[in-house]
Amino acid sequence: MRIDLHTHSRASDGTDSPAALVRAAVGAGLDVLAITDHDTSDGWAEAAQAADGTTLTLVRGMEISTRHRGRSVHLLAFLPDPTYPPLVAELDRVLDGRRSRVPAMVARLNGLGIEITEGDVHRAADGAAASGRPHVADALVTLGVVPDRTAAFDHYLGWGRPAHVDRYAAPLVEVLHAVTGAGGVSVIAHPWGRGGLGHPDEATLADLQAHGLAGIEVDHQDHDADARDRLRSIAQNLGLVVTGASDYHGDGKTDHELGCNSTHPDEFARLLEAADRAAAAAGRDTPAVVNR
Ligand code: AMP
Ligand code: ZN
Ligand code: FE
Ligand code: FE
Repeated sequence: MRIDLHTHSRASDGTDSPAALVRAAVGAGLDVLAITDHDTSDGWAEAAQAADGTTLTLVRGMEISTRHRGRSVHLLAFLPDPTYPPLVAELDRVLDGRRSRVPAMVARLNGLGIEITEGDVHRAADGAAASGRPHVADALVTLGVVPDRTAAFDHYLGWGRPAHVDRYAAPLVEVLHAVTGAGGVSVIAHPWGRGGLGHPDEATLADLQAHGLAGIEVDHQDHDADARDRLRSIAQNLGLVVTGASDYHGDGKTDHELGCNSTHPDEFARLLEAADRAAAAAGRDTPAVVNR
């Protein structure tokens, strides 16, 4: 069984449409795919329609931009009711922050002598619900300023680079409660990854578990073998679910091919059981797992 629980489509900063993401997952021989765009459920309907009639099991989720103790934390939320008002409110604030950051980044780049417009970025984002730095990067590639996204981050958009602009991220503990209230389950994404700017320890993860955290994404390209071993033992100590995933972005991110990391079937089963319990407790209309 190959189970990939963290991937992106053009609803955020991946380069495949949701339907193309599903086709790519089938082509890659995956058994289970989760679509987890940044801060939006926009790609869910198209992905579910594409998975219907295939043997691919599809889990609808999202990767929410949060902050905890001043540090950025990405939270995977699986199977929440996307209409639950407290969750919608948090996501709206994050999406607003994403939108208002675009002119700020464009102004910084203009200040560096680069002739880029907001329109260039909007064309690159192509209607994505969640605009992001990768779309600015794509616009810079189109303009011939840089050869690829990586160079755009290295030179301009990465943390500490001249066109880097911070944006709003939702308070982690509030989001954990909103996901639970929406009948979904939460897994902390790449907790010791490069972008996280901090490595939550066992005590911190235990505290988050008390607020509803159900699992840890252990097998991720940002974690080396030593980090994976240590995170796995923390998850075991705390009884948290262990997931593995590619964080696939289509052509937008190299070394993140579909299925490059996988979740163990037993861990996936535990995650679905937790989701079933959360959905029953919340009494919300949560999305079904397609082809369960
Ligand atoms: P944002 O959410 O708009 O702040 O952008 C962060 C996203 O950019 C991450 O989730 C990654 O998907 C992507 N990203 C970060 N660093 C790079 C990089 N060096 N090359 C390509 N994509 C990146
Ligand atoms: Zn991304
Ligand atoms: Fe992430
Ligand atoms: Fe991601």
